[in-house]
Amino acid sequence: MHTSRALRVLALASPLIAMRLAAQPTPIPQRYRETADRLIQAATTDSAAWLRIAELTERFGPRFSGTPNLERAIDWVIAEMKKDGLQNVRGEPAMVPRWVRGSESAELVEPRRQALPMLGLGGSIGTPAQGITAEVLVVASWDDLRAKNAQAQGKIVLFNVPFTNYGATVQYRANGAVEAAKAGAVASLIRSVGPYSMRTPHTGGMRYDSTVRRIPHAAITTEDADMLARMQARGDKIVVRLAMSAQTLPDAPSRNVIGEIVGREKPDEVVVMGGHIDSWDVGRGAMDDAGGVVAAWEAVRLMHKLGLRPRRTIRVVGWTNEENGLRGGNAYRDAHRAELDRHVAAIESDGGVFKPAGFGFTGSDAAFALVRQIGSLLDGIGAGTIGRGGGGADIGPIMQLGVPGLGLNVDGTRYFWYHHTEADTVDKLDPQDVGLCVATMAVMAYVLADMEETLGRSP
Ligand SMILES: [Zn+2]
Repeated sequence: MHTSRALRVLALASPLIAMRLAAQPTPIPQRYRETADRLIQAATTDSAAWLRIAELTERFGPRFSGTPNLERAIDWVIAEMKKDGLQNVRGEPAMVPRWVRGSESAELVEPRRQALPMLGLGGSIGTPAQGITAEVLVVASWDDLRAKNAQAQGKIVLFNVPFTNYGATVQYRANGAVEAAKAGAVASLIRSVGPYSMRTPHTGGMRYDSTVRRIPHAAITTEDADMLARMQARGDKIVVRLAMSAQTLPDAPSRNVIGEIVGREKPDEVVVMGGHIDSWDVGRGAMDDAGGVVAAWEAVRLMHKLGLRPRRTIRVVGWTNEENGLRGGNAYRDAHRAELDRHVAAIESDGGVFKPAGFGFTGSDAAFALVRQIGSLLDGIGAGTIGRGGGGADIGPIMQLGVPGLGLNVDGTRYFWYHHTEADTVDKLDPQDVGLCVATMAVMAYVLADMEETLGRSP
């Protein structure tokens, strides 16, 4: 009221001044150019982030839910965040499933003997102690299984489905055991979900249906899946012996690991940002997802180091149990339900810390326009492209309640080569690319936490 009266008075005195006062605020890119450049500079001058991924993944190894490795890694992150000067550093409890792989093997028995590198799929039951020895039926799709349904009885069904994109191909990993069991199979195998292989099998999650008999479910390599398909095409009888001692134990306690830089003006308003601290039990979970946790953590460490304190709080979270349960993301939603209307945005990196391209965004049209403005601050490093749609598994539960979500987009060429394999190790990541991911996360989070505008709620 007071302002509009003052403007009217000014308008009488000087139309020009009034126009200036009533004009739009300075565009975001102009307001934040200098700060963004300082963050980009700080994130790309050394290999600190890469070295931290190396230390986290090599000191503790794979961080599978329910294992001491994961809890020791969380203890270490808490201690290091405190040393870095982050605030409100803590673990927030979540109970997580505990699946234990045990010993496992697959062997081609006919037409000749050969070990088949394999990985049981997370959640699978085991085989009897002597294993399951059965003839193999290779199918190329759900339709092919339907067409060969009469031949599947008593056999091990192999889904030899080439990788198209993750969302499509992973359906066979998730649902293969159920569909094979419906056709009468005694076990199911999949061609590993990945576009390229050096005879490295890929693990991952799978599901059962309470109305369908449970059968063991495992992945073999793309090379061996193709070979078995060719053997079948040549008319060979294929026999495989599958042995797995996998079992599911009672849930175990874990934690989401959290550190903050508390906002200078609106500490109760939060930009939450991170990745998942757990990994599969093979490899060392460097790109999936130590890189995401470290990128968010380093972004905030650099703000603290540069004396940049945003208007709102930035909360770094390493969510637990993304891989085989999503219990961390759900526990975060439940623990913070009362403050979700003050979560201005959620950002996740879970596609590997390769060369960043920008973000995928889920929110309103007006919010999208604002995020694109922030993105333009990253054009100089090639990371300013904001696309429609995006987020992450761990922030999914709070995005469903209206929190605008962003997922870091990176060069995805090689991620699925290594994803969920023994080869997910830090050497596959380039220190410069990792630094650019830190810069990209830092600029986006800082401006979202500092700008006067907010993104509102997702429609
Ligand atoms: Zn992941």
